[in-house]
Amino acid sequence: MFKKILVANRGEIALRIQRACRELGVRAVMVYSEADREAKYVKLAEEAVCIGPAQSALSYLNMPAIISAAEVTDAEAIHPGYGFLSENADFAERVERSGFQFIGPTPESIRLMGDKVSAKQAMIKAGVPCVPGSEGELPDDPAQIRRIAKAVGYPVIIKAAGGGGGRGMRVVHTEAALVNAVSMTRAEAGAAFGNPAVYLEKFLQNPRHIEIQVLADKFKNAVYLGERDCSMQRRHQKIIEEAPAPGIARKLIERLGERCVTACKKIGYQGAGTFEFLYENGEFYFIEMNTRVQVEHPVTEMTTGVDIVKTQIMVAAGEKLPFAQRQIQIRGHAIECRINAEDPYKCTPSPGRISMWHAPGGPGVRVDSHIYTNYFVPPNYDSMIGKIIVHGDNREQALARMVTALGETVVEGISTNIALHRELMLDAKFVSGGTNIHYLEEWLSHHQR
Ligand code: ADP
Repeated sequence: MFKKILVANRGEIALRIQRACRELGVRAVMVYSEADREAKYVKLAEEAVCIGPAQSALSYLNMPAIISAAEVTDAEAIHPGYGFLSENADFAERVERSGFQFIGPTPESIRLMGDKVSAKQAMIKAGVPCVPGSEGELPDDPAQIRRIAKAVGYPVIIKAAGGGGGRGMRVVHTEAALVNAVSMTRAEAGAAFGNPAVYLEKFLQNPRHIEIQVLADKFKNAVYLGERDCSMQRRHQKIIEEAPAPGIARKLIERLGERCVTACKKIGYQGAGTFEFLYENGEFYFIEMNTRVQVEHPVTEMTTGVDIVKTQIMVAAGEKLPFAQRQIQIRGHAIECRINAEDPYKCTPSPGRISMWHAPGGPGVRVDSHIYTNYFVPPNYDSMIGKIIVHGDNREQALARMVTALGETVVEGISTNIALHRELMLDAKFVSGGTNIHYLEEWLSHHQR
């Protein structure tokens, strides 16, 4: 096992990784920007290094600063968390070239899965079901593009090969709009991701977002830890996640999970990862793989009892996966609500000083958050300030526990989306389970105040 790990992230995930390190008896070096100097995990750290000013580009995305911080503190490995540099193959490569272990898959795996076109091709080869669409990148010739779209059938979605974070996508309903939409997506993709390649796939009308969590070691052992339903999204961003997915037959999930495990072995995948699918009319369609720990990992931890962050660190240190597939059992139901510093209905960010914070508790309640009373939420980063996760014997109990937990939570001084979560936990359609990826947007459009 490592003696010392550098945590190259901030906020709740930095704290989550620090906690995993403590449990493993590993020293965690925390890095921070000038805006995060007051973060509690920084104050409670054995060692902490300032890596630059508030702007992410100069701190959390600053590769030389992060690698020098690992050098001066004698860390052996770097955990990238999620977001920032976590899916940057060049960073993983630089970490390894500088003599550190990157806690995640190899740069080759990140690169393969980071390009959605090559990821999709690899998945088709591995027998994972994908959304029907263009075979690879779209050509330049408008006539050919029209032919491909016609064969797939409208509506179609144009997606950037290098896209992420819900950006670089455009839905097209008619042939008349097609060629222009392709050019626009290409131009945007080139500017935003440095890669103008786009591809096309069938636009599924009312799917659910279902994803499979995997863990793999360096010895080609891999397991899946069941699924998560992350259909409650706005602007393609998840806000509520749960496990298991309500109303989907276990057999279908098992078959899908096994395919994901096979794919991991085929591509030599290591570490934690998530295969994301759209689910419609009883079928799953792969959309992308995330080669890192995800925000919503706790719902899986609560239903399987597996500590995903600890296992990431163990397999990066060269240990074998400590369990086999048959030892993984799904128990009960878990739900996560992402708490964002934002207006609950307009969703505009609301940074500032938290004058009062009271966390919920009780049986089956977990809070992953770095905030505290008098903490200042900096305006420079993502608006998520924490997550409330509940576990129950079944979905009904989990929902009841979430209602109680949200009712106990107090955040004063800034706006949060807690009121929205409280309404959604009582919404008849959500409570009955199985809402699709458009449900929340539609709900919000009827509940604007
Ligand atoms: P990103 O990497 O930006 O998150 P994804 O490929 O994961 O991009 O897609 C994000 C979201 O966009 C999905 O959760 C879904 O809501 C929507 N989406 C993507 N592809 C399709 C599709 N073929 N049909 C319908 N919706 C889609």
